[in-house]
Amino acid sequence: MSQIDTPALVLHTFDYRETSRVVRLVTRDAGVISVVARGARRPRNKFGAALDLFASGNAQVVMQGSRDLHALHGFDATRSRPELAQSLDKFGAASAIAEFCIRFGYEAESSHLYEVAVTALDAIAYAEPDEVPSVAVANTWRLVAELGFAPALTQCALCHADLTLTADVTFHHRAGGALCGPCASQAQGGRRLPAEARAALVSWLAGNEALADGLAIRSHLRLLREFLEEHLGDGRPLRALIAWEERQQERVPAVRTTAQSAAE
Ligand SMILES: [Zn+2]
Repeated sequence: MSQIDTPALVLHTFDYRETSRVVRLVTRDAGVISVVARGARRPRNKFGAALDLFASGNAQVVMQGSRDLHALHGFDATRSRPELAQSLDKFGAASAIAEFCIRFGYEAESSHLYEVAVTALDAIAYAEPDEVPSVAVANTWRLVAELGFAPALTQCALCHADLTLTADVTFHHRAGGALCGPCASQAQGGRRLPAEARAALVSWLAGNEALADGLAIRSHLRLLREFLEEHLGDGRPLRALIAWEERQQERVPAVRTTAQSAAE
């Protein structure tokens, strides 16, 4: 057993036995871990409101060797993120980010997943309402890149030939990104990726904020989900991401047909 004191972000919590809670954290020093906060459901417990969803702070964790569940001795919250609970869209986006970290992050990693996740939640928290979808998709791609799975976009994923940025290309999930013409004609499947959408992806992965409109966002979300399922998935659906994707489809007003208008 060893105790660590590490910056951490609350991804998920649930009740555990009579008086405790289990908390999923992404931490700077130990990656994504599950900890038990003993007594956290008792009145006047030492954790108070510190373990609210999406809060970050310093966690004191006793690491229990190879066991899956470690012990949380204290959590000093330095930032709660009430903004994320103020709109369904922000909450849904933050939940998809948290789901990503829980599903694809792992313990004792030496990556910067914690920093990227904190940046993502803050960006969503502070985004204007119409920016939320783009900001969320951009930040999820940055999490993908942090895990080492960034798609090929400026070079062919198979032969590494340079790709003109102004051209539409075929995006092939299994190949790992964009393909040149000759490779695309030999590969089975793939999805047309318009030049504009590829430029947005390049920009997002470079850390810039490019806004995509509602219709483009739906395509981006589908591309992102398919990519995650191909490269990181274990066959289980990404429930939070799918729920959020469905929400974006509802946001885009349906095109009214002449028949509908005439019926009114
Ligand atoms: Zn090629």
